[in-house]
Amino acid sequence: MNISDQLSITARDFAAKTAYIFQDQETTYQQLDGAVTRFASGLRKIGLQEGDHVALMLGNSPHFVIGMYGALRSGLTVIPINPLYTPDELTYILMNGDVKAVITMDLFIEKFEKIDAYLPMMEHYIVAETSDVARKSALQNKMIAFTDVVETGSLQEQFPIIDDDDVAVILYTSGTTGNPKGAMLTHRNLYSNAKDSADYLGIQTSDKVIAALPMFHVFCLTVSLNAPLMNGGTVIIVPKFSPAEVFRLAIKWQATVFAGVPTMYNYLLQAGELHKEDLRSLRLCISGGASMPVALLQQFEATFDCIVSEGFGLSEASPVTCFNPLDKPRKPGSIGQNIVNVENKVVDEFGEEVEVGQVGELIVRGPNVMKGYYKMPEETEHALRDGWLYTGDMARMDEEGYFYIVDRKKDMILVGGYNVYPREVEEVLYRHPNVTEVAVIGVPDPNVGEAVQAFVVLKEDGAFEEELLAYSRERLAKYKVPSSIHLIDELPKNTTGKILRRNLREKIVQS
Ligand code: AMP
Repeated sequence: MNISDQLSITARDFAAKTAYIFQDQETTYQQLDGAVTRFASGLRKIGLQEGDHVALMLGNSPHFVIGMYGALRSGLTVIPINPLYTPDELTYILMNGDVKAVITMDLFIEKFEKIDAYLPMMEHYIVAETSDVARKSALQNKMIAFTDVVETGSLQEQFPIIDDDDVAVILYTSGTTGNPKGAMLTHRNLYSNAKDSADYLGIQTSDKVIAALPMFHVFCLTVSLNAPLMNGGTVIIVPKFSPAEVFRLAIKWQATVFAGVPTMYNYLLQAGELHKEDLRSLRLCISGGASMPVALLQQFEATFDCIVSEGFGLSEASPVTCFNPLDKPRKPGSIGQNIVNVENKVVDEFGEEVEVGQVGELIVRGPNVMKGYYKMPEETEHALRDGWLYTGDMARMDEEGYFYIVDRKKDMILVGGYNVYPREVEEVLYRHPNVTEVAVIGVPDPNVGEAVQAFVVLKEDGAFEEELLAYSRERLAKYKVPSSIHLIDELPKNTTGKILRRNLREKIVQS
């Protein structure tokens, strides 16, 4: 089974039900499935064949949903792309990914005009929402409107049979060193993880899920899109996250599920003082993508009177591996337990499982684990060993099988021979009532090897460095106390809300 065939089955069972809501307009499963089939057929009519690679560079929109499901239905491999990539990053991915066609919108045409000459394989730019920009573009001869592809398509097209082990999507992970790597996820990977996450979180027909995370990121793809669509639920598409829009949509459409990264929860909380009642319809809030500070989780739950379940995932695992259960206690600070069919294990440097409570690397096994990195056999061999995916995240497990992420292996700070995990220091600072956000990094230090430094966003301005240092001294062992606190207006983050520690390190080098 694959997610695109599953959509047709869902559309048969729930034809008249709303599949998605966009700009306050409802579209039924029958309409969505019809558009997907016609777009899929149109792709074949313009010459794309089974196994070809097509990139998807769009904001959150129906075009994204129809584009992705349509390309999969016609047997193509989809490469979702972050629209913020620079022309150089884009060129690398489109070349490395052997991309023959891009589904995009007029807003991004300029980027492709700059790089098209370097992309000998590129045959088509399929453009949603065409305007004068697109019509006057130098790429006009390769351009076709999204609606024209749909219109050339037929509802009677015979599509190739998709093998579960065929590659469905390639996700380029941002990577902190070297070039991005393309994690190949098969149809089985995507389908199983959407199904297993949905089963674990009880996503059902009556759910209305707010899709505010970027759709090109696998967290949104699996949890906010594929999981509800395979169960006859409704996706509320948010083109651009803002607390006001989330509150508005939650009330207007009586949303039941929200999935976000911790930064989003922080924004909602900061904006939420006047809106205590606004998230009342939500039965479940899902957090993932980065560690959820315990203080933030507790404040959010208390303010909005709702449940926040933190989970864990990574692109290479399609992405979900763990979630806090809904039928057993949720443990703040923990990423929860194995979801259905997926195993997590904590191992030492020899791959041996460590004792309960000991810290080691988190490794994962299950039908959700990627096939490998595209055209990168060495990286694949390093990440996939004996059937397990090595995550690069340090974790521990408690007696009840709940896992705790300690930190990224590479973010650990070594102070005079002692290990300091930034997260532990961040958790302490987060508890200070005047702290909105915090990130801790290590910087080279001639005396102790590395020094702990904290970047803090305050709720109310003021000279708080000394107070925060004193606060840390009371609560942390001496070697974990930051050697300095930097007050900052905003933490640098990527589009999925992950804090860019590298940019913080550069700030220190520059100052
Ligand atoms: P990505 O491949 O972009 O989804 O990033 C995956 C990485 O995000 C993981 O390897 C972790 O480092 C981090 N991550 C995801 N969820 C959590 C979480 N709940 N707590 C801590 N880190 C997380």
